[in-house]
Amino acid sequence: MSDFVSLSYIEEYDVNTILEKFKAALSSINFNKFKPKMKVLLKVCAPISCSPDLAKTTHPAVVCAVANALTEMGLSVMVAESPYGNYSLEELDKVYLNTGMLEVANSSKCTLNNNLKTCVVENPNGVASKTLTLLDAINDADLIVNIGKLKIDGNLGFLGATANLFGFIPGELKSLILNRFVRLKEFNNYIIDLNEYLKNKLVLNVVDGIVSLEANENQHMTYCLAVGENAYKVDACLMDILGIKHSDTYLKEAENRKLIQLGHTYKVIGEIKEKFQVLDFELGEFNGEKEIHKNKLKQKRYFNLYQQRVAINKNHCKGCTICSKICPTGAIMMRYDKENELYAQIDYSKCIYCFKCFTACPYRVVEIKKPINYKILEKQINKYNEKEEK
Ligand code: SF4
Ligand code: SF4
Repeated sequence: MSDFVSLSYIEEYDVNTILEKFKAALSSINFNKFKPKMKVLLKVCAPISCSPDLAKTTHPAVVCAVANALTEMGLSVMVAESPYGNYSLEELDKVYLNTGMLEVANSSKCTLNNNLKTCVVENPNGVASKTLTLLDAINDADLIVNIGKLKIDGNLGFLGATANLFGFIPGELKSLILNRFVRLKEFNNYIIDLNEYLKNKLVLNVVDGIVSLEANENQHMTYCLAVGENAYKVDACLMDILGIKHSDTYLKEAENRKLIQLGHTYKVIGEIKEKFQVLDFELGEFNGEKEIHKNKLKQKRYFNLYQQRVAINKNHCKGCTICSKICPTGAIMMRYDKENELYAQIDYSKCIYCFKCFTACPYRVVEIKKPINYKILEKQINKYNEKEEK
């Protein structure tokens, strides 16, 4: 995977200009992984239904330019995203329409993914999570091209290429994951887990920073289109342009896992980085150690509505201590009841929902409780999975 990051200066969302700059970028970084007839999934940033004018989503002109460049080379191209909220084709169609992706499909030779089937994959090298639930569409693709949006999120911090893969998590499961990780450091590790899992297919990263979004949600003309093979390096370059310390972001976790060395480890091609220096960009708070959830009440409400969790019936527990010994976070404590009998008790603030205690209990005393909203979400996902299997 090359260290090159190509930067192009682009003043407006004009498809032909972006197309030419994108092709020049591919040639400047010596990119040669596209072969005719390959199936490519374009992972755009369209997590919510809103107009491209708000700069919260990848601009359709960028998606159209990339799709046109790839179809010209004889590849088959499909745009994919899984927005937050209700997991249904109706919602997905609404997002495609309002974010301009439908228009992209109508004006180019690419198609829109409408396969809502999901897959659960083992990720043994994951740090935050050993399994991942993902859109099944990734399995049909030969390659993934990631087209992120340059923006700052008040909760999650910098969002460029690396974090854009979070959209492969189906629908509202994304919110569940955000609620599962209390600290940003844990969520950042989850993002790195995703990138590492997908790295064999993820061959190219493009970030739309022509108009970027600041922490206060104001827009900023950054005029920048970044292209590179290594998502961490593309992001590192963009962070330097915006004046963000790498070590305050998910790149710190990538470094801890020896996937990247912090500092200027990328090589810029095309326009010089200084051309894009933006001195008055509103950055907001950056600190990988901060808690994602400032609103504890909201978090608790979400937890009660959605989080499937383990529960131990104190009266049936035999006090064998197996669950307590197997729990990776020490979330299960052994207590004595009034009759001096030992029983297991869960501290949910330490639980990471790995369900190891559920599997380990020899007396089937550990149960999995599914709140009503989780059941609805699960039903929606299962409906699409079963439909595809028929
Ligand atoms: S689900 Fe995992 S972390 Fe939670 S109590 Fe059980 S073993 Fe511990
Ligand atoms: S493994 Fe089951 S029976 Fe043993 S302490 Fe845990 S919950 Fe109780």
